[in-house]
Amino acid sequence: MLPMGLHEQQGLHERYGLTRLINARGPFTPAGVSRSDGRVGRAVAEALAGFVVMEELSELADRTLARVTGAEAGTVVHCTSSAITLAVAAAMTGESVERIAALPDTGGLPARVVLPAGHAVDYGHPLVQDIRLAGATPVLSGSDSACTVEELEKDLAHPGTACLVLVSSRLTRGARVPLTEAVAAAHRRGVPAVVDGAAQDFRVGELLAAGADLVLVSGQKYLGGPTAGLVVGRAEAVRAVRAQGKGIGRAMKASKESIVGTLAALEARQELDVSAWARRQEEKVARFCARAAALPGLTAHPVPDPTGLPFPRAVLRVDAARAGSDASALAVALRSGDPQIWLYTDRQDDGELALELVPLTDEEIDVILNRVTEVLAEGSGVTR
Ligand SMILES: *Cc1c(COP(=O)(O)O)cnc(C)c1O
Repeated sequence: MLPMGLHEQQGLHERYGLTRLINARGPFTPAGVSRSDGRVGRAVAEALAGFVVMEELSELADRTLARVTGAEAGTVVHCTSSAITLAVAAAMTGESVERIAALPDTGGLPARVVLPAGHAVDYGHPLVQDIRLAGATPVLSGSDSACTVEELEKDLAHPGTACLVLVSSRLTRGARVPLTEAVAAAHRRGVPAVVDGAAQDFRVGELLAAGADLVLVSGQKYLGGPTAGLVVGRAEAVRAVRAQGKGIGRAMKASKESIVGTLAALEARQELDVSAWARRQEEKVARFCARAAALPGLTAHPVPDPTGLPFPRAVLRVDAARAGSDASALAVALRSGDPQIWLYTDRQDDGELALELVPLTDEEIDVILNRVTEVLAEGSGVTR
């Protein structure tokens, strides 16, 4: 059940001449997102080897998703990005065959999609483009620094409004928008609410409890499945998402191997003792920090996830004068070795680097610590 270690992946990297990397940057799409355990890998291989009645498989997955998350209903689509497009499409068309066939032409349909300005995140591309892809028009409420429930409600009151989209992610900007209150504001205006919680599979119950009509999570982020978008929520809303399969959803469908892999990942999650797992993550980060803090010019401490995910990250503070290297130079040096080491650099200008150790083996964590030690000993320079 252990993730594949670096040595087991060497085959693939050698065969195709691929760059080896240790990903301490979380479920980052450009780094291949996540690691699946052997059970998911075997399930995917089994699915690829034969035929299945897709409808039967999809229905099984839909029932399983509902049971596991406690939602009324669920369904699997290609990825979270497509889940956003399809949730917006569903809000506009319902189950109407004609309307579904007409998309992305939204003539005559309510097509405004309201979201707090700070929730218009960029996760590799702008989320608002997922909305526009359905033919809808994003309406940004409030400002990047704040969006009040009153501001949302004012924008939601417009008669052409299809739905409210909210994002639960580390990527959102500005003051926190209270999800439950925002959802309630949409419902007061008779508008459904969709929550993009791509990396929030551990918190899907909480997001549903906020009252959202649809909650969207990624199958390949912390859940460790193959690429998939998991859509859960109210039965009627989920049916309208499923119905998009005869329309724009065709280009966003889940494959048999992703559905079977998702089922295996959900089984593994159900068997997981989350609090014991969370304690192991804390110990891992504490050990890493203790060793990193012993290096010259570094301090290290665990930082809880800002969205409430059940594990901390390790934050390194680099004192350039004592370390002989500033945070950005250290990050560049780590990124240019073999294997490359990828970490969070969004606060490097403030002298901070962050590492997520969740998917990493002890062996890989040792490689990181040894490389940090080497780079600092070389005093590879201060970039600015
Ligand atoms: C990763 C991410 C997505 C996209 O997820 P995919 O499954 O890769 O399409 C959408 N929204 C947020 C907030 C994300 O972090």
